[in-house]
Amino acid sequence: MNKLSHSASNIFMDCPEKYRLHYQQRLRSKTQSAALFFGTAIDKAVGAMFINGDYKKVFEDTWMTQELNGKMIDLAGSTQIVYAESDYDEELIHDDAFQNLCNDYKLQDKLAVILSVNAIYDKKKEVGFEGLTLDEKSLLNEANWYCLLEKGKIMLECVKKHIMPNITEVLSLQEAIKLENSEKDAITGYVDIVCKWKDSPTPIIFDFKTATRQYDSDAVLKSPQLALYTHALSKKYNTNTAGFIVLHKTIKKNRTKICEKCSFDGSGTRHKTCSAELPTPGTKLKSIRCNGEWKETITPEATFQVLINEIPAQIQNLIVENMDVINESIKTGIFPRNLGSCIKNYGKCQFYNKCWLGSNEGLVKLDENTTNKK
Ligand code: SF4
Ligand SMILES: [Zn+2]
Repeated sequence: MNKLSHSASNIFMDCPEKYRLHYQQRLRSKTQSAALFFGTAIDKAVGAMFINGDYKKVFEDTWMTQELNGKMIDLAGSTQIVYAESDYDEELIHDDAFQNLCNDYKLQDKLAVILSVNAIYDKKKEVGFEGLTLDEKSLLNEANWYCLLEKGKIMLECVKKHIMPNITEVLSLQEAIKLENSEKDAITGYVDIVCKWKDSPTPIIFDFKTATRQYDSDAVLKSPQLALYTHALSKKYNTNTAGFIVLHKTIKKNRTKICEKCSFDGSGTRHKTCSAELPTPGTKLKSIRCNGEWKETITPEATFQVLINEIPAQIQNLIVENMDVINESIKTGIFPRNLGSCIKNYGKCQFYNKCWLGSNEGLVKLDENTTNKK
């Protein structure tokens, strides 16, 4: 009998050898993407929001410390975290965060921090993350950590303002699912939320995602994960409707430009100074251009997508059948290498050195006491 989660099946479909190295050899990369830690922190905070808990604190705590390969680590300055370039947005970093960065890295002021980070990004283009000094890695990561800290807060406010009012009743949170076939092979998973949703005649099985890009409008219909969760819960909740709530990590700035001299609103224009035409007082002369300085401000706001679809039985059966086949394949103990998956757009597989160079560099083996979760 084998137990397969949605993420394990994804890894298997990506490359069976990767599955073997991950789940059977228990090998892990020493580093992990920030997206995973961040997604966990947002998931936990949203969960707290639904039970009227202190979701801001839950987010901050979870974004502060999390487990990596069986050990709790401080995320802030950790050099074991890999950030995406799109995570960085210096405009979102708070002044007190800049102050902390100044103190920690002996930099004079905010501008010095910004220039240092930009210089490190330039160097990284030449030598890669590994070629940076420890201090450079740590400053880069801490600056990114502060950006995601602010992005997370903005995204949670977006959930509160735009998502919560649509939920008329929460039916379950983080519900564990388990599908067993006649051979006692099990498929397992956790469903973020099942709820009643304004204007929907049936309950909806939702998964929360944080993303750098827009999801396609038919993403729900193409999701093995949602098909599986729907199959597992459709009878219990009498629904075949599932959805993604996608929170985008690229924050909308809502820039405003107000003239300091005459309060003219020049938002959206490209003029370097105030373009208002003011009447010349006491004369009948034609008006003159104000030319006052702009005061620029941003009001950051998260954008989101709610994608909902009914998942046909045909798709649900396809996914469940495929997971049964994967379970069967795992039991045969044959794990072919999918060599087409070794290098992707976003980088190399974490086992690249192992498979191609026979080297275990950059990998650790989880000890037996560490749970073999995702
Ligand atoms: S490097 Fe290639 S063959 Fe090896 S586990 Fe990764 S994807 Fe599979
Ligand atoms: Zn003006």
